[in-house]
Amino acid sequence: MPGFTCTTCGQFHEEIPMCFGSEFPDYYFSVPPAERAERVELTSDLCVVDEEHFFIRARIEIPVEGSLEPFCWNVWTSLSEANFIRANEVWNEPDRVNEPAYFGWLQTVIPGYADTLNIRTLVHTQPVGTIPRVEVIEENHPLMLDQRHGISMYRVIELVTPLLH
Ligand SMILES: [Zn+2]
Repeated sequence: MPGFTCTTCGQFHEEIPMCFGSEFPDYYFSVPPAERAERVELTSDLCVVDEEHFFIRARIEIPVEGSLEPFCWNVWTSLSEANFIRANEVWNEPDRVNEPAYFGWLQTVIPGYADTLNIRTLVHTQPVGTIPRVEVIEENHPLMLDQRHGISMYRVIELVTPLLH
């Protein structure tokens, strides 16, 4: 991946990072820090708040023109309790690739896009050991359109620049 001369700091950045993400579902931040140990169960892949709000970590991949590597956001989405239980049941099963997509509300604020919180998504289970893929299905949302049509490397640099400083 070639670097680029930055319009913000004037420096040459050697690499263009192709992946960003959030460590927690947005709902996590609505729990006061002092109460998190008691109310939140969190692993690197899953999160439960108050035993009634269920979240899974997943990845949005956006194709980039002229690049074999997609641009990606590591995000969280909500899941229904039934789908959350199901995802846990099949977590280590090779057959889990045959799971139907799970509906989820996006739980990550994505910089560079307006209003990504609680837009509609489908979560597609991948082979064991691979993070699920998110398909954004919110009608006419810029993130849905970018995922469907791909973005230019110029747009990647535009998205990445504010995140590097
Ligand atoms: Zn810079």
